[in-house]
Order: sequence, then C-alpha cells, then structure tokens
Amino acid sequence: MRWLYGPEGLMATKVVDRADLGNLLDALRAEGFSVLGPTVRDKTITYGPLTSIEDLPIGWTDEQEAGTYRLVRRDDDALFGYVVGPNSWKRFLFPPRSTLLNIERRDGSLVATAPDAPSQAYAFIGVRPCEMAAIGIQDVVFLRSGHTDRTYADRRRGLFTVGVNCAVAGGTCFCVSMETGPRCGAGFDLSLTEVIDGDDHHFVFESGSEHGAEILAQLPGRDATVADLEQVDAIVANTAAHMGRQLDTTGLREALAASHDSPHWDVVADRCLTCTNCTLVCPTCFCSTVEDDSSLDGSVASRNRRWDSCFTLDFSALHGSPVRSSTKSRYRQWMTHKLSSWFDQFESSGCVGCGRCITWCPVAIDLTKEADAVRSPEKASA
Ligand code: SF4
Ligand code: SF4
Repeated sequence: MRWLYGPEGLMATKVVDRADLGNLLDALRAEGFSVLGPTVRDKTITYGPLTSIEDLPIGWTDEQEAGTYRLVRRDDDALFGYVVGPNSWKRFLFPPRSTLLNIERRDGSLVATAPDAPSQAYAFIGVRPCEMAAIGIQDVVFLRSGHTDRTYADRRRGLFTVGVNCAVAGGTCFCVSMETGPRCGAGFDLSLTEVIDGDDHHFVFESGSEHGAEILAQLPGRDATVADLEQVDAIVANTAAHMGRQLDTTGLREALAASHDSPHWDVVADRCLTCTNCTLVCPTCFCSTVEDDSSLDGSVASRNRRWDSCFTLDFSALHGSPVRSSTKSRYRQWMTHKLSSWFDQFESSGCVGCGRCITWCPVAIDLTKEADAVRSPEKASA
C-alpha cells in the first residue's frame, strides 16, 4: 500500500487485481457489515445484497436517453461498466416504507415502542460520485442538529462506502454541470477506478478515511504508481468529456426564483402526467407522508411513513383543498425547489445531475431542457 497526497489530504493507494476483489467483500463481512451493491434484476441494474463479486453486473452496460433505459452487453467483463439504475441508495437509508411507532394494548394500557435499529451497519459497494453527493445532501436534510430523523440516523450510522469513479458517462448524466462527478469527491471510505487493458483487469483504490485505509491494507495487491494514478485521471477526464447532458447553472437559481409567471410552465404541464416517477427515482427527494394502521379489534396499531411526492394532489392539501391543484404548479414547485429554493433551505442545489428523472420520465420530460427553456423561452421556441 502506498501513501500519497490527494485532493482531500493523505490517502492510501493500492492496485488490486480482478481475481482478488472478492477479498474486499470478505473483509467487510468479517467486520459485520451488511454488504450491498449493484446487481441485475428485472432488466435493470439495481442495488441489493451481494453474496459475491459474481453478483455484480458483469459485462453489462446501460443505454439511457430521455424516457429510455435498456441493458446491453459490453464487449468485455467490466464489473462497473454502466452508470445508475432506477433505484438509488436512498431506499436503504430512507426506505420507501418504514414504521415510526408501534402501539400495543397490554393489560388495559397502551404501550408505545419505537422499532429496533438495523442490527448491522451497511457497506455500500459501487456508489457513483453523484450518489455520494446525494447522500451528503440527504445528510443535511435528515441529520440537522435539532431535527435529526431517527430512521435515517439509525441506518446511516457506521455506513461504509466504496465509491466508483465513472469510466463511462450515461446519456442523461450531467454531473460535471453540477460539480458532483465523475470522480468521487468527499464522503467515501474507499474509491476505485476500474481499468481493463486486454487481459489486464484491475482496480486502482484510493482511501478517503482511516477506516478505508485499514480495509485496503487487508487486500492483496501492489503499490499504485504515478502511471496508475495518471491513468485514473485520464479515465475520469474522458468520462467528463462525454456527458450526455449539460445544465448551465449560471444565474439559474435567480432565474427560477423569478419564474412564477413563465409561459413555459404551461408547455411542460401539457406533457407532464404527474406520475411522480421523477421524484421517486431522485436520490435527493425526501418528501413523505405518515399513515396510521390499526387492527380491527383495537389491540395493536402502528404509525408508518411512506414516500410521497410533490406531484400528488393530496400532498399540498390544506384545509380541505390542495394548494397546488394544477399540474403546472406542481411541476414548477418541483423544479424551482430542486434548482433554486433548495439553496435557501439547505445551502446547496437539490440536484446532483444523475439524470434519473430524465431517463424514467414516461413522456421524456428533460430537466436540463426545461430549465433552459424557463430561463430563455425565446431559445425554446426558436
Ligand atoms: S433532479 Fe433528476 S438529475 Fe437531479 S438528482 Fe434528482 S433525479 Fe438526478
Ligand atoms: S415530469 Fe415526467 S416523471 Fe415527473 S411527474 Fe411529470 S410525467 Fe411523471
């Protein structure tokens, strides 16, 4: 293992052969982690439990465009040769459904208990730079001092992340515009870059934390050389040069804040189905609703939280009627929150440029194009 100065300070580096990558999972399991990573399911790349490296999407890539996603075979056996699928890591830290409270009638009294925290900490393998940024954004939302969300905090505690520097850019990616990729920034324990050169298939690892360096020390491999690190730079630079989308963020926050009466909201509303897909696939969207269940005999009840969306009519219901009754007002709320008022609320953008909302919109509405059109309607109609 070799120690070098990187952008975030001193980091450990090592080159690990493809044949030895399974040792990473073994080392994490030996420390008691529940290991999750990408795998092929239902013709998508999704995240789930990894039993071995062979569970990864070996030799697959994803082709993405607005309203389009499909897996195709690569001409090599890359393990991380795709970008992001419909599910993000959000579903593990902020699950689609979670129980907040259980209530039971015992001997005539009502006894309330909070659900147990997960017994194992998570290790996420294959976190993309944009997704690392999204976790950082949700940390701000859910772990704010005085407003800590217990469900999120219980699941986030002890999290170990293995990031992947992107060697390919997806058709709807725009992380370069949002300054979240394609190289892992802050927040990872280990990052890896996959290198395939003929029969030579290896991973260049860099540590981002002491714990990451400790795990890396347990893996077989050789010291990374300057040439290895230059190769990582070249791979990332090539990905950055091939982004599928761009978003000009200069002045966008201010332009959207002043866009309430833009005629373009009507144009988008003519197409938008208010299906909520864009919010459900987004790794930073955090809206939820709370529902109570009780048994018919009144002996047990529970209070449950499930994801909701600013695109549903009920979401803005106040005093019997919704505040945002039109499609136009709901789309406007979503986009202006993501790209403008999120700064006022959380001091960052709410978008990391992952492109999921574009890929998974059934009518191919494209956030980057709509934002441009709201800012410059004359360009959109030209
Ligand atoms: S708004 Fe769209 S591109 Fe931005 S983070 Fe959410 S899903 Fe990704
Ligand atoms: S923008 Fe697309 S994905 Fe989002 S609610 Fe409208 S139709 Fe659904």
